[in-house]
Amino acid sequence: MKYKIIILCILVLVLLSPVASACSYHMGSNEHAVKLKKIHWYGSTTYSNEWSAAVSTWNGMGSVTIKADHLLSQKDLKILDVDSPRPYGYTGDWPSAGYSNGSENGTKHIKINTAILYGYSSNERTKTLTHELGHALGIKDINIDNNIMRQGRLSQTSLGTKDKEVYRCIWG
Ligand SMILES: [Zn+2]
Repeated sequence: MKYKIIILCILVLVLLSPVASACSYHMGSNEHAVKLKKIHWYGSTTYSNEWSAAVSTWNGMGSVTIKADHLLSQKDLKILDVDSPRPYGYTGDWPSAGYSNGSENGTKHIKINTAILYGYSSNERTKTLTHELGHALGIKDINIDNNIMRQGRLSQTSLGTKDKEVYRCIWG
């Protein structure tokens, strides 16, 4: 009985301890929107179906619960559309299709660039939103093929091996 209590205490301590930053592609302990293994998001986007798909994809991993904000919850992540077209004749990939940098009073933002996403397919939009939500989960860009966290205009909509590996390393 005593042992069971000790084991339980150790388990609780392990679960409550700050996430170690030893994981590759981890942005760092404060660079995410997760609080107590939850992200409460608010705001809106034109691409609400793609956003729902992005939320379901990451929720499928099971360790962090991502859900819409309710009256009493803390607002962890704001979703909003921006309209930042690329300069005429410019062929690079700036401004980006989505951004997850920036915060106000501790609330992280995902900015969805409708000027760019307008020309994307539904799968490419879903990939972009899933990618940005990956950043809100503290995952950096992973420049390995067949991963959502790879940068660029791609139509992959499900998580890749490395996406999952990094998520598990950070969130268990
Ligand atoms: Zn990125």
